[in-house]
Amino acid sequence: MNYDVLIVGTGIAGLYTALNLRDDIRILMITKNSFRDCNSYLAQGGISTSLGLFDEENYFNDTVKAGNYHNDTKAVKLLIKNSIENINTLIKLGVPFDKTKEKLNYTREGGHSEFRIVHVKDETGKSVTETLLNIVSKKRNITMLENTALIDLICKDNTCYGGILRDSHRTYKVNSKFTILATGGIGGIFNSTTNVEYLTGDGLNISLKHNIEIKDMEYLQLHPTVLYEPDVKGKKLLLSESLRGEGGIIVNQNKEVFINPLLPRDIVSTSILNEISKTPTNPYVYLDMTKKSKEFLMYRFPFLYNECLKRGYKMDKDLIPIAPAHHYCMGGIKVDLFSRTSMNNLYAVGEASCTGVHGSNRLASNSLLEALVFAKQASENINSKINEIHYKDIIFESESYALDSYDELINYLKRKVDNKYAKLFNC
Ligand SMILES: Cc1cc2nc3c(=O)[nH]c(=O)nc-3n(C[C@H](O)[C@H](O)[C@H](O)COP(=O)(O)OP(=O)(O)OC[C@H]3O[C@@H](n4cnc5c(N)ncnc54)[C@H](O)[C@@H]3O)c2cc1C
Repeated sequence: MNYDVLIVGTGIAGLYTALNLRDDIRILMITKNSFRDCNSYLAQGGISTSLGLFDEENYFNDTVKAGNYHNDTKAVKLLIKNSIENINTLIKLGVPFDKTKEKLNYTREGGHSEFRIVHVKDETGKSVTETLLNIVSKKRNITMLENTALIDLICKDNTCYGGILRDSHRTYKVNSKFTILATGGIGGIFNSTTNVEYLTGDGLNISLKHNIEIKDMEYLQLHPTVLYEPDVKGKKLLLSESLRGEGGIIVNQNKEVFINPLLPRDIVSTSILNEISKTPTNPYVYLDMTKKSKEFLMYRFPFLYNECLKRGYKMDKDLIPIAPAHHYCMGGIKVDLFSRTSMNNLYAVGEASCTGVHGSNRLASNSLLEALVFAKQASENINSKINEIHYKDIIFESESYALDSYDELINYLKRKVDNKYAKLFNC
């Protein structure tokens, strides 16, 4: 099988890359599970964007302050410069961002000095993914396969020539001129996470086995406000940061405020963990939305209002128990400003990649923006180079496949992260 481009992953990063590639490029897109099983679909809060030239410096400062100044400043500037253009593209494609009197309705989240997050109620990710899926699935140059996993790369002399794929019937080889890893995050390897459980860092695992450069894996993000559900293992319900942006506060077991709820995530999470350590028999604090009316909450957060209600909490009346859980991986496969990895003809986009935008702590709602901006960078780079590259049918020489085991990634992470995080590992 020969394709010009193989895209592994059909979340927002993979879909937006496909959408921005030329129509004469033959593309194969695969996803490990079904199209809607990805973190992109779960994104609630929204997508950050610069408000205009006047906001660029503030937005930059917010991003690098949240990232504890470990950010790659060139990547942050590119992210911010290209933000409005990509949000406008989504609007043109039909994403129905919330508006008040025809103007975009911006919300705010922790670490942002401005209201600069566009959203579709509290289901932004679902809306964007559905819009992109609808368009991409109709394109004649794109073939899309569900339940098909990449289990290894075909590479020689540090150049990628395609991938080894597996579905329920067979294992087979696809030759491609360019390959793009859009395999998302690593939440599936933790006991307590907000992520889709089968997202197990496959792109990273495969990259590690082929000595492709990895960056910043010591920077993992806990989300501070995840519903405390001791009986649920694996994926838990995230209570979007925009709840705090719209007036929610965090209180301890004595109903006292102990932290400014709009500080960056690492600070709020650490403060909650400290507070929780004082009450080991009740290891949670509370999100308090009771100052908001039922009407407002049901209108602005219909998904979360109902999910809480299903579990017995009335958001407008009850305090909601919360505790931090694994949420996001700031590190990933190291890429340059065109999303190129250290292996020739191999790109990485979205959460699987590390552009350096987030530093050691991602600013809220910068992830979807990063996925969009750097997916487009990858596509434009490939569009300009595709005619120079020719297929090569390389023999796959190994006896085993990179994804036969996850030990390498888990051991690598254990060496990189601190004990607080190690406690959350499955193994
Ligand atoms: C609950 C929740 C809420 C969030 N809210 C926000 C928000 O409001 N704003 C924001 O900016 N960010 C948010 N995030 C983060 C953001 O959603 C993700 O970082 C982003 O969607 C990642 O997009 P992606 O395309 O890189 O990966 P994903 O959307 O996770 O897609 C990964 C894809 O890779 C595929 N895949 C993985 N391994 C393989 C393999 N071996 N073979 C084939 N396919 C494979 C998967 O099947 C999937 O299709 C949230 C995350 C979560 C979990």
